[in-house]
Amino acid sequence: MIPFNNSYVHLPAQMFSRQSAKPVSDPTLIVANAPLAATLGIDPDWITTPSARDVFAGNAVADGSEPLAAAYAGHQFGNWNPRLGDGRALLLGEVLGTDGLRRDIQLKGSGPTPYSRSGDGRAWLGPVLREYLVSEAMHAMGIPTTRALAAVTTGETVQRERPLPGAIITRVAQSHIRIGTFQLMGARSDIDALSALFDHVVDRHYPDADSPAALLLAVTKAQATLIAKWMSVGFVHGVMNTDNVSIAGETIDYGPCAFMDGYDAASVFSAIDRQGRYAYQNQPRIAVWNLAQFATSLIPLMPDQDAAIEEFTTIINSFPTHYEAEWIAAFGAKLGLADPSEDDRDLITDLLALMQQDVADFTNTFANLASPNAQYQFTDRDVFGAWSARWQARGYDADIMAAANPVIIPRNHQVEAAIVAGTDGDFAPFHALLAAVTQPFAPVTDATAAFARAPAMDERITQTFCGT
Ligand code: AMP
Ligand code: MG
Repeated sequence: MIPFNNSYVHLPAQMFSRQSAKPVSDPTLIVANAPLAATLGIDPDWITTPSARDVFAGNAVADGSEPLAAAYAGHQFGNWNPRLGDGRALLLGEVLGTDGLRRDIQLKGSGPTPYSRSGDGRAWLGPVLREYLVSEAMHAMGIPTTRALAAVTTGETVQRERPLPGAIITRVAQSHIRIGTFQLMGARSDIDALSALFDHVVDRHYPDADSPAALLLAVTKAQATLIAKWMSVGFVHGVMNTDNVSIAGETIDYGPCAFMDGYDAASVFSAIDRQGRYAYQNQPRIAVWNLAQFATSLIPLMPDQDAAIEEFTTIINSFPTHYEAEWIAAFGAKLGLADPSEDDRDLITDLLALMQQDVADFTNTFANLASPNAQYQFTDRDVFGAWSARWQARGYDADIMAAANPVIIPRNHQVEAAIVAGTDGDFAPFHALLAAVTQPFAPVTDATAAFARAPAMDERITQTFCGT
């Protein structure tokens, strides 16, 4: 029922472990994604059947699936960890979509693997619902991301701070290859695996990259584009460890991620990020740090290492150029500018400075900027009025703004409410929120008004927790 066409499993054996899922006692389908199934060449009617549910729960192995746990390493909060890997996830296999793209189908929460360390290999319902909502919202906003094909509850309890309902998400990605995948082989100077991985990634994601330097440049540009897009919707990933950076340039591994409500460039939500390493405003810098680790992992492929270090350094130093151009394009579109350029930087940053002073709601300030009510977001209406006059003089296009400014994002307090209800077995709030966040640019209706509203002070959720 899933037209598997696997390639990762043919890479050198030290890059993964074949592993099957551990069956669960009583799986129940929460949600399945029919449009995504169709893109993958999977019958959309099949995904809601008991046989699909058993595949999504890890209780049945679909024909053609060759399940495996991928090995990787990575820097977590700057500290090297030589042995990570899919500790609670399994790659079921790959499919070639109707659009010609190869994609991974992965279970997350499917039981222990050789990389589980002390973990149980499971996920609880909260992070599964959060990843489903946020990844599908990101996709609807046009931001590169992994997707969600299905989610099931397992009928089992997982032990966290307290017993919680277990769940499994079926995730789809252009690949799950991470900077950490290269780092594992680079650190071991395993040239065979490293060159096989290089060929695989070029073939799959960057067919024009004919050298490690060309691949590094392509990945640098993809990261610059991605981070600029995150910034333009107020997204804070929360765990930009090198094992959570996709080589294909998709947002991956949604953990304690969050969208800002009120604008604060120093926003940090993750409870474990005490130093604010992965704060909103630090994301571009951290991307550069991560790309430097990627470059290091490619060095063993290079004949002349000193020359390679010089060449790679130049490429990584080009990140700000790519990033700033993408940032101006993204924020210029938010202001409705038809031809944004570097000359518009002050207009953008002056607005952000006003928003920062008043912790103005990020999403709603941009969505309503042209409305006469916009001034009420600001305590100093004269200063905002002066800014607005400059903006009017520059000239904006309302259609460009409408296409660039989401009116509905998965706000933390709404995601939390959907998780709390789901934990009690009520998935209606999850379904209502999912319907709203997957139409982020649609005009607000009675059904979605609650999701467009900024949280009151006492509704704000300022801390989020890891996906484990
Ligand atoms: P993350 O920060 O969620 O990307 O996870 C970092 C590493 O911890 C990855 O290697 C995960 O596979 C592993 N991990 C996280 N949670 C669990 C769990 N419950 N059981 C086993 N491994 C886990
Ligand atoms: Mg991860």
